[in-house]
Amino acid sequence: ERNDGANLANSAPGSLPRFRESDWDDNIGYFIKKKLRVWCRLRNRQWELGQIQSTMGEKASVLLSDGSVLSVPIGELLPANPDILEGVDDLIQLSYLNEPSVLHNLQYRFSRDIVYSKAGPVLIAINPFKNVQLYGDDSITAYRQNLVDSPHVYTIADTAYNEMMRDEVNQSIIISGESGAGKTETAKIAMQYLAALGGGSSGIECEVLQTSCILEAFGNAKTSRNDNSSRFGKLIEIHFSAVGKICGAEIQTYLLEKSRVVQLARGERSYHIFYQLCAGAPPSLRERLKLKEAKEYNYLNQSGCLAIHDVVDAHKFESLKEAFNTLRIHKESQEQIFAMLAAVLWLGNISFQVIDNENHIEVVDNEAVTNAASLIGCNAQDLMVTLSTRKIQAGKDSVAKRLALQQAIDTRDALAKFIYSSLFDWLVDEINHSLAMGKHRTGRSISILDIYGFESFKKNSFEQLCINYANERLQQHFNRHLFKLEQEEYELDGIDWTKVEFEDNHECLNLFEKPIGLISLLDEESNFPKATDLTLADKLKQHLDTNPCFKGERGGAFIIHHYAGEVLYDTNGFLEKNRDPIHSDTIQLLASCSGHLSKLFASSVLNVLPKTASPLEQSGALGSQKQSVGTKFKGQLFKLMQQLENTTPHFIRCIKPNNKQLPGIYDKDLVLDQLRCCGVLEVVRISRSGYPTRITHQDFSRRYGFLLLEDSESQDPLSSSVAILQQFGVLPEMYQVGYTKLFFRAGQIGALEDTRKQV
Ligand code: ATP
Ligand code: MG
Repeated sequence: ERNDGANLANSAPGSLPRFRESDWDDNIGYFIKKKLRVWCRLRNRQWELGQIQSTMGEKASVLLSDGSVLSVPIGELLPANPDILEGVDDLIQLSYLNEPSVLHNLQYRFSRDIVYSKAGPVLIAINPFKNVQLYGDDSITAYRQNLVDSPHVYTIADTAYNEMMRDEVNQSIIISGESGAGKTETAKIAMQYLAALGGGSSGIECEVLQTSCILEAFGNAKTSRNDNSSRFGKLIEIHFSAVGKICGAEIQTYLLEKSRVVQLARGERSYHIFYQLCAGAPPSLRERLKLKEAKEYNYLNQSGCLAIHDVVDAHKFESLKEAFNTLRIHKESQEQIFAMLAAVLWLGNISFQVIDNENHIEVVDNEAVTNAASLIGCNAQDLMVTLSTRKIQAGKDSVAKRLALQQAIDTRDALAKFIYSSLFDWLVDEINHSLAMGKHRTGRSISILDIYGFESFKKNSFEQLCINYANERLQQHFNRHLFKLEQEEYELDGIDWTKVEFEDNHECLNLFEKPIGLISLLDEESNFPKATDLTLADKLKQHLDTNPCFKGERGGAFIIHHYAGEVLYDTNGFLEKNRDPIHSDTIQLLASCSGHLSKLFASSVLNVLPKTASPLEQSGALGSQKQSVGTKFKGQLFKLMQQLENTTPHFIRCIKPNNKQLPGIYDKDLVLDQLRCCGVLEVVRISRSGYPTRITHQDFSRRYGFLLLEDSESQDPLSSSVAILQQFGVLPEMYQVGYTKLFFRAGQIGALEDTRKQV
């Protein structure tokens, strides 16, 4: 009988445990007799703690903590953990790893401001949305000197640093989570720790820390989900010298959201830098840039949101200039950057006038055109021609064709987006230049990856497709690593390595990457002038329907079965977003720019200049000439994965406890969803299917030795462990005896603990 309670947790290997009817008869008596706690799911789907009083057929009457007694179907009950496991550091220590137990444990900690927990090798960080007393120099010192060992970003950074120094192996800290979960803050906390450890006389660690200020100004924006949302992915690789001091760093960025420059959803903002500039520029600079207030610019005022609660943009502008100075971005370069930003803002104010009944337009000649042209460094007339006409090749001659209103708007916006994204890339290059160390060496670096987590909205588009594709790759990396860790631990202790089932997502990756896969089909269709989003949807259906992860839907939609769940994508806008076209006339205009601004464009312009002629080029669009967005991203992702493969990874999963960005609120459903999406439940499941509870022979015999009838003092720990197991009749399939540790199936310790308490 003693093992019955424990068996419950193993009743359904591979999924979270449920009482099976066949098990129930065996177990109910045990739970009633021992007055053990159970989770019971109420009508509102919430889990509550209770005690079973009695059963009748398929129902049990359960006493809840508020004193009420409910009749609950037995299928809605799950075993709860004993009190001594309340709030454990590592979820894997729980005897019962079912969903309510995992959720409860994290909530127990969260409500005590303990925002970090472990799930095996993974650190879980729950965003407190308030200042918690967990950071700063004293805390760093305490972690550095091993005075504390509770889970923390600091422990992860410390482990990474130590392993790097000891083994000369590159390390990585991979942070994921959904928008607002705290990835960027977590990355900064890790960087602060590493800067404290690896700071030296050079002061380069200050430069490394200041990169965040710049990248956030240019790459972050207020969205409906996060006031400081990163609209790009980032990898920062920090290099260390032989004595462990920071000696350089390199940043890579992924998929900046360009559309935000020209188009905003209600209540959201464009990139912080625009508002900072408008609010913070001193009078002389304003004069040179012809700068007005943010509310005067169409690109900024369209969303009805100009300010962020508790943020003073003008102050941020001061901090930004300091960061520029720290990173030795010259005053002239700074001025050029500001001029580009102002140019983008003025472009947005350029308007068009319809001149005939075919909707053809001409550019309204006003201060917006004059200012934009002078800031870009081109002739105002040339700018007007570029925005209102298109050169078409007719035999050997080219003729100018007037644009219709929407075409003109698209051309203008494409120019603005191109300037902004070129500026962003150029800025990252400049930062990297400042942080570059003399000679490159491997084996002593720590890379921190801050990248958007899995996304699934009501409407999902091309951006979500790219993001979720990246997450499939990262998930594969995560699974492989976990698998390896488990295997190593078993083998080290001489335990039979019976293959534990691992979720494998290679089918989904195939769907994206194989020669006739999503990305190549998307490119094919993007290169075909007559294609539409609907022909794309048909093509995908036609070629991919055999893949188990794909399902074509009506109306240009399709479903992908991702590791984290099904996502419905709408192909509307896919081709345009994948092509991200920039017109050759526009490129020629920029290439002709006089003055210093042209150098900012130089590399970007070179990248899109046509190398060979194609049918599309004759129509003037350069979409097909440069790499498509999807293919470029795939290339970046491969490079990233290759880089990560050469490191020892450390995983941090950030969790957002509520959608209100408020402290103290723990929304269980929301948390559960995220635990599922970021693979934490998977870690738990993997552990469950093996022998998750591991206790050294010493600890085990110390804790339970007194239960032995004979004197155990004289025995060595291993022998007394085995004696205890036998005395209590723990079933052989429930444990394995390793060289140093006992390995238990989930739930076993709970049962032993109960026995211990009875004595
Ligand atoms: P996105 O994907 O949108 O960039 P994110 O995961 O990077 O989101 P952050 O910007 O890091 O999210 O965090 C959102 C906000 O949550 C922060 O601006 C901060 O207010 C709060 N926050 C995050 N982590 C912490 C923390 N450890 N302590 C206090 N507040 C935090
Ligand atoms: Mg972020």
